[in-house]
Amino acid sequence: DTQEPKTHFGFKSVPEIGQVFSNVASKYDLMNDIMSFGIHRFWKEHFIRTMAPGPGTKLLDVAGGTGDIAMGFFNYCKEIHKDTTAKATLLDINSKMLEVGKKRFSMTSYGETSQIAFELGNAENLESIPSNSYDIYTIAFGIRNCTHIDKVLHEAYRVLKPGGRFMCLEFGKVQNPVVSLMYNLYSFQIIPVMGQLVAADINSYQYLVESIQQFPSQDKFAKMIENAGFTIVNNGWEDLSFGIAAIHSGFKL
Ligand code: SAM
Repeated sequence: DTQEPKTHFGFKSVPEIGQVFSNVASKYDLMNDIMSFGIHRFWKEHFIRTMAPGPGTKLLDVAGGTGDIAMGFFNYCKEIHKDTTAKATLLDINSKMLEVGKKRFSMTSYGETSQIAFELGNAENLESIPSNSYDIYTIAFGIRNCTHIDKVLHEAYRVLKPGGRFMCLEFGKVQNPVVSLMYNLYSFQIIPVMGQLVAADINSYQYLVESIQQFPSQDKFAKMIENAGFTIVNNGWEDLSFGIAAIHSGFKL
């Protein structure tokens, strides 16, 4: 499946998408908590538990932003396995988001270790990442922002070791009509206004809502993952909160 390039509502290229995140970087974590009523934290916790990384796992967290997934990954490894040998590379296209992530890690014990590395890069072309080099590839609320989903999946497949796992946490489509109605009202009427009030940026949050609408449904996205070469199990996804978000996963076998 090749995907038609999308215009992203006037944001025509990846650097411009990057600009969206430059504008919101410093308020990103706060806005996530406010907009989702803190629910994104439960989704991410569930995502990490589903990942269930073993000791010494090597994780590539693409579109890692301010580091929620990498941090949750390290905490899991430490708490469950007493493991401090796990490694993560946090890759993002936006240097401001990476800076917020770096600062956050520098305030934790992980900041003093070689467990975490930061890399500026594009999910669609992971030129600095060797093939067959990571155990797990994650992308949380990031693939929606990429113009060519098929290129992202192709690169994910390339950089994973044989047996490695691709995992994606992303907004999905809600099937329940009542929840869907309420969710749409909230998304279109309230989120942009909150974006203006908290981050003084209505456009970026309007973009956020519209990008969620444009992203393929859970079953279509699962098909794309399969088409990229991954083996999927149990349909390939799990809905969270009525499908407001979903975890997709596939193995490079
Ligand atoms: N994964 C983090 C989380 O769950 O909190 C951050 C998600 S944030 C909504 C999306 C991130 O994707 C931003 O940090 C943005 O800079 C990054 N991004 C957008 N397009 C990208 C691309 N083509 N390659 C890599 N990162 C990208």
